Amino acid sequence: MTARKSPVLGILGGGQLARMLALAAAPLGVRCRVVDGLADACAGHVASLLVAEWSDHARLQAFAAEVDAVTFDFENVPAETARVLADKVVVWPLPGALAVSQDRVTEKTLFRECGIQTAEFAAVSTRAELDQALATIGAPAILKTRRFGYDGKGQFRLKTLADADAAWTALGAPAAEHGLILEAFVPFARELSVLAVRGRDGEFRTWPLTQNWHTNGVLAMSLAPARDIAVLQPRADTLARALAERLNYVGVFALELFVTTDGQLLGNEMAPRVHNSGHWTIEGAHTSQFENHVRAVLGLPLGDTGARGVSAMFNWLGELPALAPVLQTVDAHWHDYGKQARPGRKTGHATLCAPDAATLAERLAALAQALGREPQAAPVLQALRAMQHA
Ligand code: AMP
Repeated sequence: MTARKSPVLGILGGGQLARMLALAAAPLGVRCRVVDGLADACAGHVASLLVAEWSDHARLQAFAAEVDAVTFDFENVPAETARVLADKVVVWPLPGALAVSQDRVTEKTLFRECGIQTAEFAAVSTRAELDQALATIGAPAILKTRRFGYDGKGQFRLKTLADADAAWTALGAPAAEHGLILEAFVPFARELSVLAVRGRDGEFRTWPLTQNWHTNGVLAMSLAPARDIAVLQPRADTLARALAERLNYVGVFALELFVTTDGQLLGNEMAPRVHNSGHWTIEGAHTSQFENHVRAVLGLPLGDTGARGVSAMFNWLGELPALAPVLQTVDAHWHDYGKQARPGRKTGHATLCAPDAATLAERLAALAQALGREPQAAPVLQALRAMQHA
């Protein structure tokens, strides 16, 4: 017998996504090394951590020499940093895929080229351009920073054209630096995401569509598989595949979609990495997004993306729940990210699984009551009841 060398995966960014990647990598015999600018980055609890700035190219090149492949838990790594590493070691996804998702105008333009419809949008960098864009797009609309926006940050909702002054006061400063985008407000029926993985050999798989609920622009809850997806799943798969092939993408990504009231799918954004709306796959799918990402970037065969029953995922922000009710519920799974609790910061998530929608609804109702979270769980319970009556 020959000894198999255990691969080492480098991850840029040491947050909870890197932490869950490292946890999924371990059973495959893969060790992870993580780079982050902060010494208390939470992935450092489960993987070796290099504290370095993105601009420290010399240390990053030394890091590259010690790993078999590099990937990301964070898309805002400067494209230059990714390119410096790509000279030394394989970097997946390709730096070009990161660059696309770093700019909302480039991203939506690419979506359209790939056949993914979007809300009307226009690039805005001056107050006069805002007025011009509003004249074309109308209100309601959302003004967003083109770059570095996440979790609803850097956004202003204009209910009427009279909100233009307030929007400019809020976002005029970033406009000068990075530019803005004005998007028509989509009165969507629901929000879905398609999580997809593409291997180095081009093999492509998706997980069942996930329905997502946001609070103040931040993901609060997910339900998977989403209800009524027989028609939407193949359409979403086709869109995700077109994007993956165009970018020669390797690894997991999420494509966030609005379902309009007349059943159209509009692309909102893509995340070129594992995604919060795929956390349910850890317990709720045959292979999790984290494991399949590790497999993809290391050139290993991809795993089955089918769901085991039905799962609901809840984020915790700024605080941690009382643990006992979660731990005492059948098929409930708690993930503490090991981060200091701060207002608005994602500190953990819980996934609740069940063989069918009726059982999940029962378990969820009981757990939400025990945690005093009935109002938050209400939309998921409503969706589960609709699934039972479908
Ligand atoms: P984003 O940062 O673009 O993912 O936006 C965060 C959330 O804000 C989305 O998940 C939606 O709930 C909402 N949102 C963003 N853009 C739009 C839009 N054009 N129309 C309606 N809602 C939107």
